[in-house]
Amino acid sequence: MNYQPTLSYAHHLDKTDPLRPYRRQFYFPKHKGKSVLYFCGNSLGLQPKGVKEALEHEVMHWREHAVEGHFRGEMPWMYYHKFLLPQSARLVGAKESEVVVMNTLTTNLHLLMVSFYRPTKERFKIIMEAGAFPSDQYAMESQVRFHGFSPKEAIVEIAPRPGEETLRTEDIISTIEKHGNSVATVMFGGVNYYTGQFFDLGKITEAGHKVGANVGFDLAHTAGNLPLKLHDWNVDFACWCSYKYLNSGPGGPSGIFVHERHGDNPDLPRFAGWWGHDEGSRFLMKKGFIPMQGAAGWQLSNAQIFSCAAHKVSLDMFDKVGMDALREKAVKMTGYLEFLIENLNKEKKRFNIITPSKPQARGCQLSILTGKEGKQLFDYLTENGVVADWREPNVIRVAPVPFYNSFEDCWRLADLLGKFNQ
Ligand SMILES: *Cc1c(COP(=O)(O)O)cnc(C)c1O
Repeated sequence: MNYQPTLSYAHHLDKTDPLRPYRRQFYFPKHKGKSVLYFCGNSLGLQPKGVKEALEHEVMHWREHAVEGHFRGEMPWMYYHKFLLPQSARLVGAKESEVVVMNTLTTNLHLLMVSFYRPTKERFKIIMEAGAFPSDQYAMESQVRFHGFSPKEAIVEIAPRPGEETLRTEDIISTIEKHGNSVATVMFGGVNYYTGQFFDLGKITEAGHKVGANVGFDLAHTAGNLPLKLHDWNVDFACWCSYKYLNSGPGGPSGIFVHERHGDNPDLPRFAGWWGHDEGSRFLMKKGFIPMQGAAGWQLSNAQIFSCAAHKVSLDMFDKVGMDALREKAVKMTGYLEFLIENLNKEKKRFNIITPSKPQARGCQLSILTGKEGKQLFDYLTENGVVADWREPNVIRVAPVPFYNSFEDCWRLADLLGKFNQ
């Protein structure tokens, strides 16, 4: 792209942006009477305007129908999870039977590890990226301990080479090969929350399968950020949350993916609950768990209607626009923000972007490694109406999100950065 660092060029990009109208469908918080420059959609997405109505609809349904609400209306609660399946499936490149929305993310990560981490004396290792999101680290450590192993011997973390900030695919693959048939499960983030690096999920899956391991991904920073092909990539399992790029509100529900070759295997061990039981006989309330086919067989409880209702509003928007169109804008917009920041670095390198510069190796997010003045810079941005986030020890993460950010937002952020301590 032949980007230019002027405000009029940013305006030109906005005017020719086909997704421009969607910005108006979100609520922006205010700072000193003006909309903030929101770059935190990777942490909590903005509220879509249809959410209030969707929640009110369910509140009224409850008020008017009480228990009969499970069977009445256009979206009876009894089947509510099914109303989220087609959109969820398209979002991650899966068949409808391979996905379901339930619980929250870390809970689901544990439930999936129950099925896909089945260590033996010989094959007991988990391979993950170093510096994974802490919840994932705690989950993996406790899984390993639960099976009687020590995290030290059973968890293999792949770190960047000295002097590098992100992982090389060849290093991920060679580590998997090196540990060979001692690997039970490869469990990676799709996009690392700290560096913003997007991993090659297809290649990692292939390498894991070659050594006989299961391969799964935590897609918290990936779902709604990048197009995915979980089915075609042969991924065994995955889970994601809905409140980051997916704009479904705080504590929003999680989605899971289980490849059909596992989903249709009733003998695969799992922790069971009544909502995962065969639908035809669920209410006979009999002994003996018979799982539903597909990912639905991992459900424990009846759906959390209010949070699923908010999620549906957002999922419908993603489905209407499609990940390909969102990705096209994201590549352009993240590239533009990167260009503007590098433009500020021309005279003296002040802002070190550690996120890979290749579009294939990142989503929306750019992580800026700051020097000593990092916290001061972050506070300065906040005072000037920027919502970004600070990650210890010294990274500022900014994510221009294609649904609601504009090229002008990126320009204004870079303008503020340029004026810092000048
Ligand atoms: C955001 C995030 C979580 C948060 O988990 P919850 O169970 O939803 O609180 C976990 N893992 C990763 C990788 C995340 O980015």
